[in-house]
Amino acid sequence: MHNLVENLKENQAVMLETLKQIVEKESPTRDKELADELATYIAGLFEKLTSGEASIIQNEIFGNHVRGEFGDGEEQILLLAHYDTVWQKGDINEKIPFKIQGDIAYGPGVFDMKGGIVQGLYALQALKETNAPLNKKVVFLCTSDEELGSPSSQKLIEEEAKKSKYVLVLEPAISKQGALKTARKGVGIFKLNIKGRAAHAGVEPEKGISAILELSKQVTYLHELTDYSKGTTVNVGKITGGTTVNVIAAEAEADIDLRVKTKAEFDRIIPIIKNLKPSMAGVKVRVAGGINRPPFERTDQVISLFNMAKKVAQENLGFKLEEKETGGGSDGNFTAPFAPTLDGLGAVGDGAHALNEHIIISQMPKRSALLALMIKELAN
Ligand SMILES: [Zn+2]
Repeated sequence: MHNLVENLKENQAVMLETLKQIVEKESPTRDKELADELATYIAGLFEKLTSGEASIIQNEIFGNHVRGEFGDGEEQILLLAHYDTVWQKGDINEKIPFKIQGDIAYGPGVFDMKGGIVQGLYALQALKETNAPLNKKVVFLCTSDEELGSPSSQKLIEEEAKKSKYVLVLEPAISKQGALKTARKGVGIFKLNIKGRAAHAGVEPEKGISAILELSKQVTYLHELTDYSKGTTVNVGKITGGTTVNVIAAEAEADIDLRVKTKAEFDRIIPIIKNLKPSMAGVKVRVAGGINRPPFERTDQVISLFNMAKKVAQENLGFKLEEKETGGGSDGNFTAPFAPTLDGLGAVGDGAHALNEHIIISQMPKRSALLALMIKELAN
């Protein structure tokens, strides 16, 4: 066991150098050319570090996905990552250069989630170099479009999850305390369209039906669906409507974000949103949309997976691991319905998507060791 920990500790400088390489290969979700370059690089790195086999899964719109296989066995453990970032080409020069200050490394995507990719790959290398006996194969799936909600990778992720005994997600841990994520809310996205009737606001206002007035009533109703005791929130995050000040608005629209902790809440709330009724005569109300990501629920299996991680951290690495739930979604939401999933096993740091995005360098070998020890335990 300690072999693994030592191996990774000794590799801290190499891991940091690899992180620099990966971060300097910028990979905005919508820049296929850049993304493809990084995909190829990661596939090569996977083969070099793990002696496993990596394949490139072609993708027409976004960057290609990478799928690596390490070890063998009938059953598999899925190691899930994404290499795209919310940053744009050139941000590494202009906004957030890669830099090291003491124990902190800054750069676009270091925390979300290139640090996690590096930790995952070196964990596999450590398992290889210490000849850890594994009776399951590890599939490393690194996708290209998580930051957009995984339009081109969702199916692939679900397919791999269905084949997996366990899923370990390399998304960042929760801020500096480094808690793992054992529950994520499900996300629903809807568009509300309201049609009223236009009329001159001064000459014959009585002939108009204001879509904006109707919208305001619907927005109030929608927000009242929020129930913090159940963990359910409804937010109208954007509204548009009307044409100009002296016209009764004929049309208005709203974008609605729904978050729930459980599928049962989805089943309760979605029909309410889908069947919104007009409050005024002559108004037409239409709702489009639905589930964007299912909830990642904190099931008994998830809890026992976390307890295993906690024990491993305490006994082998000497730190106390915490767990938390989050309202934000990840690809863990797609795997959770199919296999016990533990999320937040990536980098420790802070500032995802923000100018202060950074990771704590000395945590890299520790978290990598946690991951390696978890895999060793689960593949037993
Ligand atoms: Zn992420």
